[in-house]
Amino acid sequence: MSGSTSSRSALVVGAGIGGLTAALALSRTRWRVTVLERAPELDEVGAGLSIWPRAWRILGDLGIADRLVDGTRPAIQAGLRRPDGRWLAKVRAEASGRTPVMVHRARLHSALVGALEEREDVEVRTGVTVTGLAGLDAHGPADLVVAADGIRSVIRNELHQREDVRYAGYTAYRGVTAEPVPGEASTTGGETWGSGVRFGCAPLVDGRTYWFVTANRPAGENSGDHHADVTALVGDWHEPIPQLLAATPPSAVIRGDICDLRLPLRRFDHGRVALLGDAAHATTPNLGQGACAAIEDAAVLAAQLAGHARIDSALVAYDRIRRPATQRLVRASRLVGVLGQVDNGPVVAARDAGLAGVGAIAGLVSR
Ligand SMILES: Cc1cc2nc3c(=O)[nH]c(=O)nc-3n(C[C@H](O)[C@H](O)[C@H](O)COP(=O)(O)OP(=O)(O)OC[C@H]3O[C@@H](n4cnc5c(N)ncnc54)[C@H](O)[C@@H]3O)c2cc1C
Repeated sequence: MSGSTSSRSALVVGAGIGGLTAALALSRTRWRVTVLERAPELDEVGAGLSIWPRAWRILGDLGIADRLVDGTRPAIQAGLRRPDGRWLAKVRAEASGRTPVMVHRARLHSALVGALEEREDVEVRTGVTVTGLAGLDAHGPADLVVAADGIRSVIRNELHQREDVRYAGYTAYRGVTAEPVPGEASTTGGETWGSGVRFGCAPLVDGRTYWFVTANRPAGENSGDHHADVTALVGDWHEPIPQLLAATPPSAVIRGDICDLRLPLRRFDHGRVALLGDAAHATTPNLGQGACAAIEDAAVLAAQLAGHARIDSALVAYDRIRRPATQRLVRASRLVGVLGQVDNGPVVAARDAGLAGVGAIAGLVSR
């Protein structure tokens, strides 16, 4: 860090997508940044992430988008289907800047790590578990603390005096095919809704296909064989679902119970501390926007800090901009989850009829 021209220093807790994006955005606005991550190494796992246009533009401004995509993206057929393959709603998703870019989370994570390694004013310390705000002083004086320590944030729990995570009632399995799968799987995305079970898939920018399955389950239930579980759930649904499962090695299937924050936080700012990403507004993944929201938080935080002389005023402005938007997202996503996980026969039939009607109207309008 010798020869640094940075004037202010920040500690970022958590090296997930949110923390790393915040570190990069701050460093580009002349902050000296130390990132503290409890994992011993930065070898991010995960599966696919949909990156929606606003977040993608931010990644472009930060020089990350070019590290993820080369060339143009093909248009794909997307929409909502029933397990027998009948479309309830169909859209042609042109790669026009209005549709999400599908990237592997590990690839986005390593692109961020790579960009940070090139910045002389950023240090990432791994194997450091933060236990609370008091202990942070041991890592050097900081004008700003960014709590990006995820859904079970110790800093949020300390500031808000409660552990507030809610199980949504369903678990998610995620997988990525080992290789690109030819045919329909390379040109088709979207979701298929059954009774208490959903399947979704989309081609990633590297040609492989990302897929997920959600299923109503008691919290923590785990057979240990995720591939067998998803095969039992959706293995006899329409193509290309069986084809995608067959193209995915069992070891590449991960599983996690879906949670969000039970109650919305009343503020994301506390003096020199800003809550960011899942630490501030963990959401169910039904709209595929949690990481996008963390990326947007990072950009807004850096912009407000650049535009305000006082850090606490900048954080108040950050809170005013990001809290309403992200809390709307959490509510909307929760609602989609309730609709998608319905498992009562007559209600499923009514839901599907309603969705088919909406799909038909949307199709006519788009034509
Ligand atoms: C099934 C599923 C599908 C999803 N799909 C999408 C999608 O398509 N698009 C999208 O935008 N989002 C999606 N999301 C949401 C997205 O994954 C998260 O919102 C996003 O990764 C949150 O990033 P984060 O950096 O805030 O938190 P995290 O990724 O949880 O990172 C927190 C980091 O902090 C570290 N940490 C935690 N506690 C401490 C501590 N005490 N000390 C030090 N370090 C600590 C952790 O090790 C971790 O590295 C999905 C989520 C799920 C579950």
